[in-house]
Amino acid sequence: MTFQDLGLCPPILSALKALDYEKPSPIQAKAIPPALQGRDVLGCAQTGTGKTCAFATPILQQLHGRKPEPHFGVRPIRALILTPTRELALQIQESFVAYGKNLPLRSAVIFGGVGQQPQVDKLRAGVDILVATPGRLQDLHDQGYIHVEKLEIFVLDEADRMLDMGFIHDVKKILRWIPQKKQTLFFSATMPPEVQGLVDSLLVDPVKVAVDPVSSPVEVIDQKLYYVDRGNKSKLLSSLIKAPGVKNALIFTRTKHGANKVAGDLAKEGIPSAAIHGNKSQTARQQALADFKSGRIKALVATDIAARGIDIEELSHVFNYNLPDVPETYVHRIGRTGRAGRGGTAVSFCEFGEKELLAPIEKLLKRPIPVVEGHPYPMENFEAPKRDKHGKLVNPDDQEARQAARERKKQRDAAKSAPAPKAPPAGRGGSARQTPKPSSVGRGQAPAAPSSAAAVKKQPGYRPSKTLDQALSAMAPKPSKGRGGSGARGGGPARQPSAPSRDPAYEAWLAEERRIQAQRFKDDMAGEVIMDATARFLAPKAPPRSADPAPKAPSPRQSRPPKREPAKKSPGGGRTAPSVGRDAPARRSSTPKRSPAAAVGAGSNPTRPASPKEAPKRDQKRRPDRRRGPMEPTLRLGSQKDSTEQQGSLMRPYYFNPDED
Ligand code: AMP
Repeated sequence: MTFQDLGLCPPILSALKALDYEKPSPIQAKAIPPALQGRDVLGCAQTGTGKTCAFATPILQQLHGRKPEPHFGVRPIRALILTPTRELALQIQESFVAYGKNLPLRSAVIFGGVGQQPQVDKLRAGVDILVATPGRLQDLHDQGYIHVEKLEIFVLDEADRMLDMGFIHDVKKILRWIPQKKQTLFFSATMPPEVQGLVDSLLVDPVKVAVDPVSSPVEVIDQKLYYVDRGNKSKLLSSLIKAPGVKNALIFTRTKHGANKVAGDLAKEGIPSAAIHGNKSQTARQQALADFKSGRIKALVATDIAARGIDIEELSHVFNYNLPDVPETYVHRIGRTGRAGRGGTAVSFCEFGEKELLAPIEKLLKRPIPVVEGHPYPMENFEAPKRDKHGKLVNPDDQEARQAARERKKQRDAAKSAPAPKAPPAGRGGSARQTPKPSSVGRGQAPAAPSSAAAVKKQPGYRPSKTLDQALSAMAPKPSKGRGGSGARGGGPARQPSAPSRDPAYEAWLAEERRIQAQRFKDDMAGEVIMDATARFLAPKAPPRSADPAPKAPSPRQSRPPKREPAKKSPGGGRTAPSVGRDAPARRSSTPKRSPAAAVGAGSNPTRPASPKEAPKRDQKRRPDRRRGPMEPTLRLGSQKDSTEQQGSLMRPYYFNPDED
């Protein structure tokens, strides 16, 4: 069977050829033909089976074959793909770009945890295919930026994980406002009753395609088990990673604290590594992932949530530094290697206290994991693990992480109550790069400055890490040599708030800092600011310098972003646009209804969506507004940032302390 046999068109076939896809995977062979015919498809398949291509190629081909009717002057969203995590969303959109590189279709990805403006700008410009996580999709819909009247195809990806992560209610909400009449492609690795309920309500006479059960990676992956004491795991890990044949390694730890610690231990051993978990900024996570994919770092240490769905081609090794509580998680973890039938190695460490976790895993695998004997760190500690009064295992990693979190909290409290240090010196070197505490800075001079580390994090434009080194949470932040001194933003001492100051040195520093910020916006994320791949991709492109005429001052309306308020149902049943800017109250009564395009555009010309090029200028013009909060706020403030933060997730054991770093 070839891709040609499936009925795919030449532009897609040549894109697949360029990716070295020789023949379709089973899910592709089964799902592509009915999907091309417009049938609903129910696919039982997990990440790693090639399901993205199974739904993306028929979508591309169908959309290409049907001319879009412009919707209020822009191309409408005709395909919507809903997926649970940011990482998956990114990968899916990258796949659409790759498979559709010979087709004139536009795609975009939206997810939480990053500023919404670049995403809104993309939507304003019009997209054919939108990949989204549920939270951000609902947020942007509530603000009136999402219009799906012309939706033709809907994909619900990883439905069972949506359920695991507590997203099912968001999904149900979304299903209420997308059109009833559409083609639906539904993917889920397992079919718990809630998911079955969704299937029944959503799919019409679906073609059912099922491929390899969840335990399929077991067949192609070389699995090994090392019995090793907790205190020796780190040494064993670095010795194994240094061995020839380990090209790269994804290491799973139980806790975020553990991930940081392991990454630090590996770094000390000279193994370039990074940690990713839910407490890392999106930028740091994307940067670490990009560095890992490009081979700049050899080891990526992750918690289960952070690593969900990440697809690293040619991952040679997965290490289970800790065994997971849930046996299926073991299969998901090792499935990160051995992609698309390729081989891979999965190494698991088991300390005496973890033996109880091993049994259910082996039961699921229906075979024991081969034990490696005669290694340099054999298990010597056979002490019975501690249990709580209910007889439940007390996990020492959890305890250690809690303790570390308590200590960090103590340190933070102590830092808050300590007398304020001196004002920072002028200039860009030394501690002048620290975020100062200009409580005495007057109105209109600068945004109110933070008085605590938490407040620093909420500052507009705050980035905890500017370099990979800083993203490596386990390693102490190093002074940035290029800048001189210890002033790298995000570093330990650099977070210390400094004294209130109006002294000239501080004012000079502040002016310089603002100049740099303004330049940064103008340069469209150029220079030393590390942006994640999506942010870079979604960011409005800077016009070519030479051809760039002097920028016109934006009109007052252009400078006003749409007010964040839920779109309302108009009396006629249509959805009204969010009101715009500070004159919203007056406008609200006199202009109760605007076209969706105007809602999206919100520029000087209500019938024309604002050009993406205008966005940075608008941002520069924005003033901090107490009512509206900081520029480009992360939505869902105060609640979960994204799917990885969801309450009720089956992965809750990894989230026992939100303060943990
Ligand atoms: P997915 O299950 O969609 O996440 O895909 C898993 C991995 O398999 C991705 O890295 C794809 O690029 C790759 N892949 C998908 N289909 C094929 C194919 N037919 N041949 C080779 N690689 C594939």
